[in-house]
Amino acid sequence: MTTLCTENYRRFYNALQAETVSSDDILNLIPGALGYIAGEAHIGKFEVRIEIMPSAQDPAGYNISRVMYEVPDGFGYMAHTRVIRSAGKSSVSFAVFPVKDYTWTDDDKGALDHLIKNLYIIMYKARLTEQVNKRQLTDHLTSLPNTAYFTKFTHDLGFKGILDQYTIIFSNLRSFGYINQTLGSNAGDTVLKEYGHRLANLYGPGELIARFGGDNFVAILKNENVSNYLESISGVSIPVAIGKQTKTLTINARSGIYPMASPSENINEAINRADISLDYAKKVSDADCVWFTFKILARANREREIISYFQTALARHEFVVYYQPKVDYTTGIIRGCEALVRWKHNGELITPADFIPILESEGMICDLDFYVLERVCEDIGKWVNNGIIPIRVSVNFSRHHLKNEHLVDDIMSVVIKHEINPQYLEIELTESASGEDNKTLQSFVDDLNSHGIRTSIDDFGTGYSSLSLLKDLHVSVIKIDKSFIDNITDRDGKDRIILSSILSMVTGLGMDVIAEGCETAEQAKILSEMSCNTIQGYLYDKPLPYEDITSKLAEGYVYDLKS
Ligand code: C2E
Ligand code: CA
Ligand code: CA
Repeated sequence: MTTLCTENYRRFYNALQAETVSSDDILNLIPGALGYIAGEAHIGKFEVRIEIMPSAQDPAGYNISRVMYEVPDGFGYMAHTRVIRSAGKSSVSFAVFPVKDYTWTDDDKGALDHLIKNLYIIMYKARLTEQVNKRQLTDHLTSLPNTAYFTKFTHDLGFKGILDQYTIIFSNLRSFGYINQTLGSNAGDTVLKEYGHRLANLYGPGELIARFGGDNFVAILKNENVSNYLESISGVSIPVAIGKQTKTLTINARSGIYPMASPSENINEAINRADISLDYAKKVSDADCVWFTFKILARANREREIISYFQTALARHEFVVYYQPKVDYTTGIIRGCEALVRWKHNGELITPADFIPILESEGMICDLDFYVLERVCEDIGKWVNNGIIPIRVSVNFSRHHLKNEHLVDDIMSVVIKHEINPQYLEIELTESASGEDNKTLQSFVDDLNSHGIRTSIDDFGTGYSSLSLLKDLHVSVIKIDKSFIDNITDRDGKDRIILSSILSMVTGLGMDVIAEGCETAEQAKILSEMSCNTIQGYLYDKPLPYEDITSKLAEGYVYDLKS
């Protein structure tokens, strides 16, 4: 009788006990394992056919037919066959042929059944392990590998010492937030899912693309495949059902790219470098693709330092307010001024351009704006206490504040605390880039008006909804952006024509207008001819420290720079 306890059977089972994590691993091991027992079990040929129907856990299904073992000198035709069926229509079939001129005995058939069952259990276990692993390493929405898989995969490449053949690409979808907001999160999910499916076709063996949460996708690709990939990930058309209609959206991506320099690069740092390059694309260059440079790294490090040091800097009163006069062109009298913040750090005066955009992107700007408002109210209070007639001071407020439902109350509590007459304050706001929150802006402006605080629209003409904004918004002042003033001396230029119509419209609507960034007497003269008589710019003064503006106010300083 055939026994399954021989030394060869022990070797057979041992050969299948290797660290197998997938069905493919097991199928690759079976031929070698069968080699140990084929002789004593009279096996001439061993065939396996696996048919797994697609299901929710296994959307692709599985269908293979493979000869696992075959002797070179022919085999008998009377196969012993077994079909093991599982859920649905899935099945695994085995056909075992004897060696030439041999016929299976009943004993042989019993032993073969035993062997087949054991093989089936081993294969089934490998498939289950594979599915569990896959689930832990897969992003559910897109079915792409997830962050954990990406980390494991890249570390494996690191162990092989071949990372210098690879590039990391960190990508983010353009306007995804807008899609989510305007078309709903279901549409957003459809976009991510479909986009993920497209990405799944863009990587080959030894490469990987993963979803890093949200609309972030990270690829590790062989250097030679990067440019093709970058071309393929933008301009992707995705149909999205919106109600009963289908709309085709074109999805574009922005990427930060880091080609790894060393074979054993620190993978977390490499991902970080691709990420900060993407950040640079978003905040600075607005390019589709930004390749890592050490300048970008230095900028990102500085940004991190600023973010982590900001609250300490506030507490240490390192932020100082400067005041730039707004001058009446016809009389030279100072009509008001704008509060502009500077950062005094380690004896250095840092200009807003170096820190405001960073604080804006982290939402920390709101704390700074209130800090400036406090200082301004204090300074106005000091003027009053010292018998100086105050001028109106405008304070810049970021649009981030519009998310604050108690904004006007918060502003008023500062005004009340310092016992300031609200008429000495003005709040400068910029137009929105998209125009979507102008309703909130409108009620904010009305609320401030009712408390006697004026508002102005800063950088007018550079935003989105300039003209419709004028109609609905009850602001007191329009500040014409410097970019219009720059070209104003060009007599036939478009800026001049546009500016003159804006000015007549704004004044027609009863609003005050002020030109900022005026540097020459010629510009001022032309502005005055267009009925814009309030001017702020280097022509008169740069932003001045508190002491300087205070002495100018105390002596009733009058500018004489008309010619
Ligand atoms: P802004 O509000 O448009 O302020 C005007 C900027 O133009 C100021 O730069 C001012 O110094 C500059 N400027 C004025 N006249 C001239 C001129 O004739 N020629 C030139 N080339 N420049 C002129 P600054 O002070 O560097 O501020 C830059 C920006 O930083 C401001 O632009 C504003 O957006 C922001 N900012 C400054 N302080 C604050 C603040 O307290 N809160 C917020 N949210 N933003 C602030
Ligand atoms: Ca301003
Ligand atoms: Ca401005």
